Amino acid sequence: LLSPDGTLGVTIFEEMTTLALSTGAINLGQGFPDEDGPAEIKAAAQSAIAQGANQYAPGKGTAALREAIATHQQRFYGLNPDPDTEVLVTTGATEAIAATLLAFIQPGDEVLTFEPFYDSYGAIIGMAGGNHVTAPLLAPDFLPDLAELEDSFSSRTKIVLLNNPHNPTGAVFPEPVLTRIVELAAKYGAIIVSDEVYEHLTFGVRHIPITSLPGAAERTITISSAGKTFSFTGWKIGWLSGPAELVAAVRTVKQFLTYSSGTPFQSAIAVGLALPDEFYTGIANTLRHKRDILAEGLRAAGFGVYNPSGTYFINVDTAPLGIRDSVDLARRLPGLVGVAAIPVPVFCHPEGAERTRSLLRFAFCKKADVLEEAAARLATLK
Ligand code: PMP
Ligand code: GLN
Repeated sequence: LLSPDGTLGVTIFEEMTTLALSTGAINLGQGFPDEDGPAEIKAAAQSAIAQGANQYAPGKGTAALREAIATHQQRFYGLNPDPDTEVLVTTGATEAIAATLLAFIQPGDEVLTFEPFYDSYGAIIGMAGGNHVTAPLLAPDFLPDLAELEDSFSSRTKIVLLNNPHNPTGAVFPEPVLTRIVELAAKYGAIIVSDEVYEHLTFGVRHIPITSLPGAAERTITISSAGKTFSFTGWKIGWLSGPAELVAAVRTVKQFLTYSSGTPFQSAIAVGLALPDEFYTGIANTLRHKRDILAEGLRAAGFGVYNPSGTYFINVDTAPLGIRDSVDLARRLPGLVGVAAIPVPVFCHPEGAERTRSLLRFAFCKKADVLEEAAARLATLK
């Protein structure tokens, strides 16, 4: 399920991080920051632990965090989810995705994702017994062809699983694309599941939650995660919001996956969500600067660079260096020059893997000097 040859092995992130560790390479593969998030959020977790917030949280999440999530949706997008019935805290976005698909997919139902797709989507669709249908995102912008998108829908389409801003390509979907997805989901009676974990990591373009568009809210579950926004990927606090009936169905599944999620971290993330606007603009500006450092270095190293509008990933084409197979290159790169990256074909079914065969993903959520050193090492490939 996880790899192009159809086997459920170790995830590509685990494989490349292990390789980076064993070779001592700079790890620009697995997407995690090399600096922790705000000190006040850490202090809030420590104080919650000291004050005894160490037993099970309520299954749907602590009241403080659900209220903070609802307030965040209002503050940034003018949305008004009810914190009691329309918000659910999860163990990372990964659990939100799994619980949502398990809640709604019956064997034989179709789940439409864009391709390349985040690796857990294919695995969970398989575990739920669904059929995974894909619509390609096309270079250079990595957006779908709107004239052809309807061809990917059918009467069996149960869920459109969207990731915006998009991992691995860094695309941020503009309003016309989102509007077309809503129209088609409504026409075919599909639920929209929108994974927006990179909602605050966009560079000069506005993130539009698909649920905010006309006709979308009644059929949309929106997923996010503290890992990305606050740089605490190891805390595994995520959440989702949507109409009460849909959220209740997901909550039922979540009860039997994890029951509840880390109590002291929930208190701390509630503090994080209330941080002032400068925090949110600050993370985007800092990342944009890092993106520019790595993009320039990759261009100088001879790659074809696709500049992302969001996320913390850059895709490059290895073909200008005479390298056609990014999966093979990714396995050799740590030993060759001391840098690890993720090959894009692993986020695809065979046809998509062929289309993305020379694409490689680098994470730039790292310190500037680390990015500069990685670029210098990659320049020796030429
Ligand atoms: N969705 C996407 C698109 C991601 O890139 C990731 C990983 N960072 C996740 C979901 C999983 O998020 P979490 O670590 O909160 O489970
Ligand atoms: N989301 C991160 C990435 O895309 C990795 C998460 C994981 O290791 N599962 O790199």
